[in-house]
Amino acid sequence: MANEQVLTAEQVIEKAKSYLSDEHVAFIKKAYQYAEDAHREQYRKSGEPYIIHPIQVAGILVDLEMDPATIAGGFLHDVVEDTSVTLEDLKEAFNEEVAMLVDGVTKLGKIKYKSQEEQQAENHRKMFVAMAQDIRVILIKLADRLHNMRTLKHLPQEKQRRISNETLEIFAPLAHRLGISKIKWELEDTALRYLNPQQYYRIVNLMKKKRAERELYVEEVVNEVKSRVEEVNIKADFSGRPKHIYSIYRKMAMQNKQFNEIYDLLAVRILVNSIKDCYAVLGIIHTCWKPMPGRFKDYIAMPKPNMYQSLHTTVIGPKGDPLEVQIRTFEMHEIAEYGIAAHWAYKEGKNVNEDSSFDKKLSWFREILEFQNESSDAEEFMESLKIDLFSDMVFVFTPKGDVIELPSGSVPIDFSYRIHSEIGNKTIGAKVNGKMVTLDYKLRTGDIVEILTSKHSYGPSQDWINLAQTSQAKHKIRQFFKKQRREENVEKGRELVEKEIKNLDFEVKDVLTVENLQKVADKFNFANEEDMYAAVGYNGITAAQVANRLTEKERKIRDQEEQVKSVQDVTPEPKPYQGKKREAGVRVKGVDNLLIRLSKCCNPVPGDPIVGFITKGRGVSVHREDCPNVLTNEALDRLIQVEWEHEPQTQRRKEYNVEIEILGYDRRGLLNEVLQAVNETKTNISSVSGKSDRNKVATIHMAIFIQNINHLHKVVERIKQIKDIYSVRRVMN
Ligand code: MN
Repeated sequence: MANEQVLTAEQVIEKAKSYLSDEHVAFIKKAYQYAEDAHREQYRKSGEPYIIHPIQVAGILVDLEMDPATIAGGFLHDVVEDTSVTLEDLKEAFNEEVAMLVDGVTKLGKIKYKSQEEQQAENHRKMFVAMAQDIRVILIKLADRLHNMRTLKHLPQEKQRRISNETLEIFAPLAHRLGISKIKWELEDTALRYLNPQQYYRIVNLMKKKRAERELYVEEVVNEVKSRVEEVNIKADFSGRPKHIYSIYRKMAMQNKQFNEIYDLLAVRILVNSIKDCYAVLGIIHTCWKPMPGRFKDYIAMPKPNMYQSLHTTVIGPKGDPLEVQIRTFEMHEIAEYGIAAHWAYKEGKNVNEDSSFDKKLSWFREILEFQNESSDAEEFMESLKIDLFSDMVFVFTPKGDVIELPSGSVPIDFSYRIHSEIGNKTIGAKVNGKMVTLDYKLRTGDIVEILTSKHSYGPSQDWINLAQTSQAKHKIRQFFKKQRREENVEKGRELVEKEIKNLDFEVKDVLTVENLQKVADKFNFANEEDMYAAVGYNGITAAQVANRLTEKERKIRDQEEQVKSVQDVTPEPKPYQGKKREAGVRVKGVDNLLIRLSKCCNPVPGDPIVGFITKGRGVSVHREDCPNVLTNEALDRLIQVEWEHEPQTQRRKEYNVEIEILGYDRRGLLNEVLQAVNETKTNISSVSGKSDRNKVATIHMAIFIQNINHLHKVVERIKQIKDIYSVRRVMN
């Protein structure tokens, strides 16, 4: 599989003919043509036409003799992410299955791995499997990663390292668990080449130096065994076992050994027809040379959890050097190399969809993947298989990329208490995948969860106990309430608030109506008045804050009366903010005469969901709802609802300044074409700048005047039509 030669689509399809029917070959051919069409005019960072990549990915899958849907998925795996083709299009052009596979691969592409902690890596692998839904999605993803690793040299060094790390921590172990050693080894060796080139090339050179000597020795051993095996009429294939650089590197690093101390540098593999022959050959080996104690392993009687079967032994060879011998059947060898793919290798005439055991196989493998632990013994392993992980777990991300495992049905409160009980107690809201959610939102695998906290938070609310799924969160919330000595605090709080109302010169019984109390409790996010009083009691919130809110209406009435009395100034207020409000094209619900301006950080345009932020002394600034600047805890208390004014058609349309970033292949005339395209949409440009890096990636920053969101979409779409454009996005400062 390690061939670096670039296959043509014809070669891949030709290879597929060896095991697929004409009809299925036609099906994957169609997938290729569809992908070719969709990726036309797209280029990889290496400068090659993009389609070369999906062709290689499909080629790797054909090598694994996968079913037609998976091969088609290989050809099409990037079309949804990188072109205008939608899942619906795929469903229509192909079928549900192909669309589902491509969707799975697209989703996996969004998982970003950062941390290098072992536990985190494990959780990431679990999440991968949980999200993939179908193991074939992982197979496509592995093929994708394999080809990306083969072409890593075209990326900047920093990316090479990041991707190599991810490959080593996530993808190679997945390949291993699926038993696909062919892919696993290549992934590991390539990753090592980028992560530790010095050691990599040192090992390569050492291996080269010793090769002749080693081969001679192995040959000598093989000849001796061969003649004895032939004497008893056993047919066998002998080979010197190929060495993998990463496994040598690991042994040297982990066991702190020198290169020549590693025994399995000398290794022989013997393939025979039957299990009986395996043991017969083992007997012959052990009579020729003395076995090393503790090195014999019978993986035939006790297969490894990834289905690997073989006999392993190490003997003291003819020259007194240890020699590793592996004995297995041809079929076992197939599985050793191709793992799960060998089990699934597509057999003509047997449609995977109609195979009822297929789904069972899927879930079985999934559990294996989850619970497999190299050190655990068989019994423990079987025990772990009984637990159905996926129906009751979700895996979600912290904003930093750590994965948190929670029982399914968990809500943001469970998440925040899992991080830290202080975070839990100070939680005031949560964002999932960048959007605000309610605290009863059911978390789903793959969600990125961000907890909003405030040091002014009044602590958890009583009903969180019912919302929370984890006993940990429930327990922490109960503890909190115990600590607050609730009853006492409610009484104390009530007294303080009443006193404050009197201080403000209002009648307590006028102000403290049931209705008013509930309204104010709602405003402060308490479930009821008791929670609010309790918070006042333990100083989570001041009595003055509550009293001010409670008397708001009364105070307004009183102020108005006072104003009326004092209207002796003839000059009317010059309504200073009216003009500004018009200019922004935004109004605050139910309020007039506010100074309103559009924020410079996110540059909202009509049609964007927006929110107002009350600034100190500078009126209301309007931001996009997803602007990071208003999603901070400090900002949260000062948000106000705003809306776009509908502009009368007759009025001159207002324009808004928006900044966009365009990435593309740096070629002559690109900037000009972009400018021309923008011009064609009758859009004014206020500034433009461009640069290019050594990978020939051009970055163009452009500020344009936009009337509304539809206008912006139109401009973006127009730019995207230009040849060699990779992406266009709106910039948030
Ligand atoms: Mn890809």
